[in-house]
Amino acid sequence: MKKYDYLIVGAGLFGAVFAHEACKAGKKCLVIDRRPHIGGNVYTEEIEGINVHKYGAHIFHTSNKEVWDYVNSFAEFNRYTNSPVARYKDELYNLPFNMNTFHALWGVKTPDEAKAKIEEQKAEAIAQMKAAGVSEPRNLREQAISLVGRDIYEKLIEGYTEKQWGRRAEELSAFIIRRLPVRFTYDNNYFNDKYQGIPEGGYTGLVEKMLAGSEVRLNTDFFADRSGYEALAEKTVFTGMVDEFYDYRFGELEYRSLKFETEVLDIDNYQGNAVVNYTEYEIPYTRIIEHKHFEFGTQEKTVITREYPAKWEKGDEPYYPMNDEKNNALFERYKELADKEDRVIFGGRLGEYKYYDMHQVIARALETAKKRG
Ligand SMILES: Cc1cc2nc3c(=O)[nH]c(=O)nc-3n(C[C@H](O)[C@H](O)[C@H](O)COP(=O)(O)OP(=O)(O)OC[C@H]3O[C@@H](n4cnc5c(N)ncnc54)[C@H](O)[C@@H]3O)c2cc1C
Repeated sequence: MKKYDYLIVGAGLFGAVFAHEACKAGKKCLVIDRRPHIGGNVYTEEIEGINVHKYGAHIFHTSNKEVWDYVNSFAEFNRYTNSPVARYKDELYNLPFNMNTFHALWGVKTPDEAKAKIEEQKAEAIAQMKAAGVSEPRNLREQAISLVGRDIYEKLIEGYTEKQWGRRAEELSAFIIRRLPVRFTYDNNYFNDKYQGIPEGGYTGLVEKMLAGSEVRLNTDFFADRSGYEALAEKTVFTGMVDEFYDYRFGELEYRSLKFETEVLDIDNYQGNAVVNYTEYEIPYTRIIEHKHFEFGTQEKTVITREYPAKWEKGDEPYYPMNDEKNNALFERYKELADKEDRVIFGGRLGEYKYYDMHQVIARALETAKKRG
C-alpha cells in the first residue's frame, strides 16, 4: 500500500484541478513543483498592493459554462474585458481590428466604407502578386496582405509577428495565419467568448484553494529523485515536458520563450490600459502590461512589465510549443510511449505539447480526472 494515490508533478492549473477532483473523490495527493511557488504560469505575486502576472498577462475567457462555474466556485471574477491598444510609432489603434481601428486608419465611419476600403486594398495586393506571377501566397507577408490589405498588415501585423517568431515575414510560412478576423462594429472586446474576467485577488489564491486538500512540496524537481517519488504513489500525473520524461530519447521538442522586464514606477498610471502592443519591428518588446488595470487598481504606484519574445534553449522556460510539422511528428513518437503507460497520466500544455488557454486546460483536467481518476 503506497502513501499516496497520486503523485502530481506540477502545481499549475492542470495539476491543481486534477488534485482537487481526486481529493474530492477521496484520494490522497502529493503535488510537487520545481518552482518556488504554486500556480505554474498563471502565478500572480503582489507588488505594491498590485497583483502582478509574473509569467505574462492572463485573462480568463471561455464559452464553456461548466468551466466558468467551476472557476467561480474558487474565486470571484471581476468584469475585466480585454481591449488591447496597438501602438505603431506615434499612432494608436484599437484591437481587435474593428470599426475604431478602421476609423483611425482611414477616417471611414460606416461598415460599408470600411469594407470597401479593405476590399480595395486586398484587390490591389492580389493584382500585384499576379503581376509578379504569384498565384498562391508563398509566405506570411503575402498571405496577410491578401487577407486584409497593406495598411493593416504593415502597421499592425508585420513587425509584431516578426518579433514573436524571431524571423522576417517573408521567411515565415503562410500557414501561420489562416484567418485574420475583422469586425465591422465599434467593439474593442478582444475575445468572442461569453464569459470573461480576472479573479479578484489574483490567480494564486484561486490555485491555493484548489490545492487545499493536497500535500504540496515546492522547490522539488521530479527528476532529482524520480524513482523515489514514483514509489510514493499508485499513479503519477505528469504535467512537465514529455520529452524530458523520456530523457529526450527521440530528440528535443522546440518552444518559443519570453523574457519579462518588470519595473515599479512612482506614478499612478503609466499607459491607461492593461495591455499595449508595440507593433513596430524596431522596438524589441511586443507589449507592455500595466498590471493594476486588470483589477481597476487605484494604488499610488504602478507596476509595468515589458514582454520580449525569445529563442528557447534548454533550461529556459518553455512558454509556447512550436506546433509545426517537424515538432508535431516528434511529439507523436513520445505520445506513442505515453499512451502505453498505465501508471502515468500526461496532461497540460507541456505534457500534451499543445498550446492551451486556461479554460481549455481546466476542461482537459476535469475530463481526465473523470476518466482516469
Ligand atoms: C505568456 C502567456 C500568456 C498567456 N495568456 C493567457 C490568457 O490570457 N488566457 C488564457 O486562458 N491562457 C493564457 N495562457 C495559457 C496558460 O498559461 C496555460 O493554459 C496554463 O498555465 C497551463 O497550465 P498547465 O498546468 O498545463 O502548465 P504550467 O502552468 O506550465 O504548469 C506546469 C508546472 O509543472 C512544473 N514542472 C515541470 N516540470 C517539472 C518537474 N520535473 N518537477 C516538478 N515540477 C515540474 C512547472 O514548474 C510548472 O509549474 C498564457 C500563456 C503564456 C505563456
